[in-house]
Order: sequence, then C-alpha cells, then structure tokens
Amino acid sequence: MSTAITEEPRRLRAQSRRIRAEAEVTPIETANERCRAEKVRDETKRCYDPHMPAKVPWLPSVVPPGAHAERCPKCGRMALIPWTLRRDNQTKVLLRTWACTECQQLEERPEPE
Ligand SMILES: [Zn+2]
Repeated sequence: MSTAITEEPRRLRAQSRRIRAEAEVTPIETANERCRAEKVRDETKRCYDPHMPAKVPWLPSVVPPGAHAERCPKCGRMALIPWTLRRDNQTKVLLRTWACTECQQLEERPEPE
C-alpha cells in the first residue's frame, strides 16, 4: 500500500514531464494552427488593457513633424499618414499603406507613379 502511494505521484510526474517535452517540440505546421496561436497571442496582449488596444510597436504612433496627415475614417482624428509603399504582385499597382497614428487603422490606396 505504502509503495502505491509513493509510486503513483512519481509516475504521474514523469508522465506530465514527458507530455510537456513532447508539446514543446511539436512544430506549428498548419496555417490553422498558426492562426490559432496568433489569436492566443492577440488575446494575451488584450488582457493587459482590455479597454485600450495596445499600440502595435512597428506602426507609427506619432505624426512626424511636417507630415501630411488626413482625417482617420475610424477615429476621426487628423492622424492618418502615408506610410509604406508596395507593388501588388498581381495587378502591378503601386499601393500606399496609410496608417493612423492614434488608432492604428490601416488603409491601402493606389499611389500615383
Ligand atoms: Zn484613427
């Protein structure tokens, strides 16, 4: 009896260690799983401040001096600034991403060449 009592937790501990080790090396393979992982990450981020979405660090968070800012369609502040340029692979159209420095709304508009 006494052996069973001491053996059981030891066995369970070894088992959970093995399961954890396996879980850690399991690669995230499918897009679905990656998407779920990203969702968890986003939810974790939201937990820090549920009322105010955290500003994304790689997006501009202030209007640079002299920048041409427009009114943001989402938050209504004069904080929408032209940001990155990219060329669409399929249509070959030059697209400018506009970013709002206040609410970080992103908008893509065709850019005159
Ligand atoms: Zn905005």
